[in-house]
Amino acid sequence: AKAAGKNNYQYYAGLMNSASLDKLELQNDLHRAVAAGDFELYYQPVVDLSTRRVVSVEALVRWFHPQRGNIRPEVFVPLAEEAGLIVGVGNWVLNEACMQMAEWRREGVALQRIAVNISALQFSEGGLLRHIINALESSGLPSHCLGLEITESLLMEDVSYTLGMLADLKAMDVNVSIDDFGTGYSSMSYLKQFPIDHLKIDRSFIANVLDSEQDKAITTAIIAMAKSFDLSVIAEGVESEQQALYLEELGCDSCQGYLYGKPMSAEDISRLLEDSAPL
Ligand code: C2E
Ligand code: CA
Ligand code: CA
Ligand code: CA
Repeated sequence: AKAAGKNNYQYYAGLMNSASLDKLELQNDLHRAVAAGDFELYYQPVVDLSTRRVVSVEALVRWFHPQRGNIRPEVFVPLAEEAGLIVGVGNWVLNEACMQMAEWRREGVALQRIAVNISALQFSEGGLLRHIINALESSGLPSHCLGLEITESLLMEDVSYTLGMLADLKAMDVNVSIDDFGTGYSSMSYLKQFPIDHLKIDRSFIANVLDSEQDKAITTAIIAMAKSFDLSVIAEGVESEQQALYLEELGCDSCQGYLYGKPMSAEDISRLLEDSAPL
């Protein structure tokens, strides 16, 4: 009973912290950070399994808080959504990612694409297409070099809106990936209708893919289904060579994870790609 009491206490103390004071304070700071552009993008390499070369990068936002240091996007993206700031943050990310990718292309860095995460609110807000066009135009980046990552549950929220958006993105030649695939609610029949390019298998299935029969079965099924829909498959969270080899055997197209590199600065990506040997 004593142990349970202690856990309860920690539980409520944790809730009070994050739910009230802390959260308000962080949201205030976020307002300032959006105005000041206190964010940075890190980039994580995505490696083609058949060539072992980096083919694309995913842009991941970082917030370096002046007092608290690095705040994880899992913490501040939901806060930004709640405070109505996610469109501001998201547009900053879109612009920065397109600018950086355009610069890499000018430098001759061999990357096919940069992928940007789009939050549910940003997707449904209505101005997204305009923001994408602006980011592409002001950076000069060709649209086929931009990818969007959207989650499975977001797609299903309003299927007819989603279908319209995806058709517009397809017409613009912007790539679309379903992120964290397997974790949300999705219907295979809808998946067939959605004009998307890639499925990203969630890290939670990859972590134990070599040991867990269940995760093996899920991963195998996702890859087989993606093949039948002609979608390319990216596995997230690949940390070992054995995982990469196993995924390659299953027919997975590309991998992303600490095995090939953690999210890193733009300079580190340039350095990684200068060395042209396959990973
Ligand atoms: P995500 O889109 O699923 O991004 C992948 C996350 O997995 C990243 O965490 C990355 O650092 C981490 N990761 C990659 N490889 C490995 C690995 O091998 N092992 C482990 N343990 N982790 C790995 P990060 O950067 O902290 O981002 C967390 C989430 O925050 C992202 O998940 C995404 O949902 C969200 N996020 C990040 N940047 C943005 C953004 O610009 N806009 C929006 N809306 N959301 C973002
Ligand atoms: Ca993602
Ligand atoms: Ca993901
Ligand atoms: Ca994930």
